[in-house]
Amino acid sequence: MAEETIITPDLNFVRSLKGAGAETLKKCYQCATCSVVCPISPDDKPFPRKEMVMAQWGMKQELAADPDVWLCHNCNDCSKYCPRGARPGDVLSVMRQKAIEENAVPGFMGKIVRNPFLALLIPIILFLAVLGSTGHLKAPGEGAIEYSNFMPVTYIEIIFMSAVGLAGITYLVSLMKFWKTMGSNGAATSKGFVPSLIATLVELISHKRFAKCEANGDRRIGHLLVLYAFIGLAITTIWITYYYYVPHIETHIPLSDPMKWLGNGSAAALIIGSLILVANRMKDKGIDTISSSFDWTFLIMIVLLAISGIATEAVRLAGIKSIAYPVYFVHLVFVFYTIVYFPYSKLAHMGYRALAITYAKMADRDVQL
Ligand code: SF4
Ligand code: SF4
Repeated sequence: MAEETIITPDLNFVRSLKGAGAETLKKCYQCATCSVVCPISPDDKPFPRKEMVMAQWGMKQELAADPDVWLCHNCNDCSKYCPRGARPGDVLSVMRQKAIEENAVPGFMGKIVRNPFLALLIPIILFLAVLGSTGHLKAPGEGAIEYSNFMPVTYIEIIFMSAVGLAGITYLVSLMKFWKTMGSNGAATSKGFVPSLIATLVELISHKRFAKCEANGDRRIGHLLVLYAFIGLAITTIWITYYYYVPHIETHIPLSDPMKWLGNGSAAALIIGSLILVANRMKDKGIDTISSSFDWTFLIMIVLLAISGIATEAVRLAGIKSIAYPVYFVHLVFVFYTIVYFPYSKLAHMGYRALAITYAKMADRDVQL
């Protein structure tokens, strides 16, 4: 006799999914068209049909342990063909948002990120406190524009090194929590972690999965530009730190310096990439689909981060002292926002998706791209 499985639906979870943008999930009548059309769903236990039924039944734990939620890259080919307008692509996107919230360490940070005004207020108060305590609330009046005369380098270092350290640790803890939850789904793994992770990283660098997308293909270019921009900006930051501490170059590195090329090129890539993603979300794709505030907030913050960074350099070069220090202040706020809230934001999906693809490869569940 077959074993009995008792399912206890978590109705609060169903309500929270619907409240976060998955209000169409109850429309699904399990026809499985979505699983058939999905270009990256494996033949064995394909997604997203099974995730739709798990969501309808409020199977929170099962969804939390399901790597398939993260194999989806939100191309929305499935939403295009769903006969019921259940928008399975968007429902999976909300599931990923919930997973980031559930794994957030500490949990309250996940809630702060949902409130962009509060999230921005924290660095504003912090930087105003630093300026007040160092007597720089009034911008320097004499001489050339020198940002370190406004916000001392030592304070910048203390704040941002602490921010990077804290964000790095909390992100790592969240990812470990996620990995442990995925491991609880009982799937047999036949391949090693390291070779699977290397194969995953190679795949992510080229964004091969996006190339399979029919309904939403131009997101690939935007995604790639944003990814490479962040890598470029991280290298630029290390490079500046090297200049500051080794050859002791403290100010006004010329535009001809390769470090400047990399920094400015990365900022330009960030602006172009994020604007492509904004335009992609706004354009009419002929699909019944929506973007949540979770999707929008970080995208807008990235655009503002890049624009304020370019503006900080431009007003200094142009010698426009009246706005140079306020622009620099705004840029610092967006840099802080991006670093500190990274583990709780849309960008956090990078690590979650990388681990889920790695897990799928280990379990021989990934499709050939
Ligand atoms: S989400 Fe749509 S396509 Fe997928 S099983 Fe449900 S009704 Fe069918
Ligand atoms: S959004 Fe795209 S990748 Fe995700 S389940 Fe639908 S078809 Fe597959």
